[in-house]
Order: sequence, then structure tokens, then C-alpha cells
Amino acid sequence: MNRLSMRLGGGIFLVAAMLVLAGWWTLRAETSSKWKLNKESEALVTDAKLRDEIFDALGAAEKAGTDPRLTHFNVRVATAFEKEGKERVVVGGNTEYEIPEGIHGETSVLNHVTALYGPETTRRDVRFLAFFATQCGASSCGDCRDYQLATTDYERLLFVCGQSSDRTVKVTRFADQIVCERNFPEVEAGKIPLAPEELRGLVKSAEEARRGGVTLFTKGRHTGAAALSFAGKTYRAAGADDAAFHYRYPIGGLLQQAMTERDYFLRAIVVSAENGDWPVVNYRDRQYGYEASSFNRAAGKAPIVLILSNGRGQYRMTTFESALPNAFSTADFMPEALKNFLASHAGEK
Ligand SMILES: [Zn+2]
Repeated sequence: MNRLSMRLGGGIFLVAAMLVLAGWWTLRAETSSKWKLNKESEALVTDAKLRDEIFDALGAAEKAGTDPRLTHFNVRVATAFEKEGKERVVVGGNTEYEIPEGIHGETSVLNHVTALYGPETTRRDVRFLAFFATQCGASSCGDCRDYQLATTDYERLLFVCGQSSDRTVKVTRFADQIVCERNFPEVEAGKIPLAPEELRGLVKSAEEARRGGVTLFTKGRHTGAAALSFAGKTYRAAGADDAAFHYRYPIGGLLQQAMTERDYFLRAIVVSAENGDWPVVNYRDRQYGYEASSFNRAAGKAPIVLILSNGRGQYRMTTFESALPNAFSTADFMPEALKNFLASHAGEK
């Protein structure tokens, strides 16, 4: 091969390479802008208008601003609906501050809808929340579940996730994240994995706790909770409200006491309401319980048993794993850090 044919050959190769590259770019531009519902999701999104609104919301969520300075985990979310003949797209994003506290994506977007269009629109017109994510599979935290329950028509609310890598869209029902206390199985006292005197002691302790707490704003759903640890200690707390609306939850309260004593592993928690009523366990409190139960899991212990008492000798029994489906905890995000933490703290007792 002489020099000329080498140069010609090189030129042809270069042109061919440029053509391939140009083709690839065109292909990429087309696929990157196109969302596609996965098979299971098509059954939940049958109307074309809703599907287009979902895709428009995902496009907006992709550009939503966030400030997750601690975790660097972006929650970019949006919703879309028709209002006065026009499509409205509203976005939300998570922000974090110095201690592990944050404004979450779900509360952010729903609050934006309310701020722009009022609470009736949030309840009536928001049919889905669409998340733009690197990987789909997560659900809302307990607190965001409480907020969605309170502000939306949650029984028909859809939970949408658009995966950035392949543009597939997964749709589930928000209701799949909800387990009403009525559906916690009712059990006889003898079936509860506690000695009769342990159960009696916890019920008494939870009822005494309920007589305390602060209920200046809480009406009709005040509860007390008591827990027994593997170390044999009892902790208890009641709900307490305040003027800034930073409610302190009973399960969260007793867990904080146990952990202050470096007593990280709990066997059972009993929750009690007014005599004769079944207690409500908020999803935020379930999140605290789930986190603590994941400590048990990390240490190879049984999950915490969650027991509801109606004060008349009747019980419902479940676990936080069942009461908060598809939940997340530090055990999922940072398993090694959690193991090291528990080894260096719980071991001191
Ligand atoms: Zn949340």
C-alpha cells in the first residue's frame, strides 16, 4: 500500500467514523428525550393525557433544584395537572441543613401546589408525584407518607419513578405504601412473644405514659408507648405537641431514651390510646421504629414486635417492616458504618 492509498483509506475511515458518530448522537438525542412506561405500569396509566402529564412532569423534575449537602442524594420530583384549560407543572426538591434534617421532595412539591393553587387543587387535581432518579425502587419516608395521606386524594395517587439511565418509567400506587392499623392482625395475648408479666407491665407502662405528654393541639388521638429492650429495661413516652408544630412522637421519644442509655436493641413496643380505642401509629413514628428494628437486623436479632393495645385485653401485633412497606434506613444506605457504630457503642454496656 503506497502513501496515497493509505491517506485515502484513512480519509474514508474518518468520514465513516463521523457518520457513525452523527447517527449515534441523533439516536441518543431521540432516546434521551423519550420516556417509556414499563409493562406493569401501562395498566395503571391507561389514559393518554395522564401519560403525557407524567412525561412532562419527569422532564421538569429532571431540572428541579435541590440542596442535599449532607447525603448528596437528590430527590427531584414534579407533578402536572390541568387548571383553567392549561397544563400546570409544579416541581419540588429536597434540601438538607446542618444536622440530619431536611425538607423532603414530596412535601416540597405538594406544598408548592398548595401555595400556588390552594389545598383543594392539591387534593382534587394532583394524581401523581413523578420522581427523576438514577435508580428507581425507593418509597417515601414515613413523614412524607403522613403528608401525602393528609393532603392528597391518596387512594388514587400514583407514585411514579423515571429512571435516568434507560428512561423507563415505573408506576405504582401510593396506597401500596400504606397499612391501616385495622389491618394489623388481631392476636390473643398468649400468641404474643412476651411472658404474660412482661406484656402486662408494658401495657400498664404505656397507659401511664399516655396520661402524660402534651395535648394542647392533639385532639382525640393521643397515645403512649412503652418498650422492652433485650437488656430487660423498659422505656416509655407520650406524644407531645408545641406551638412550632414540631410534634414529638411517642415511639420516637422512647427510642431516644433507650439510645441515650446505649440500649440499642428493643424486643417489643406496646402502644396505647384512650381506653377502648385502638391507637393510631403515625407513619413518621413507624419510620423511627423501622430504623431501630434495622439495628436488630444488623445484629442478627429478631425484628421489634409492635403491639397495639385497646385497653380491654385485645391486641393487634405486627412489625415495623410490615407496617411501613418498602421502607429505608441507615442499614440500607450505610451498612458498614452502622455495624461499626453499633459495635463501638452498644458493646460498651
Ligand atoms: Zn420524606
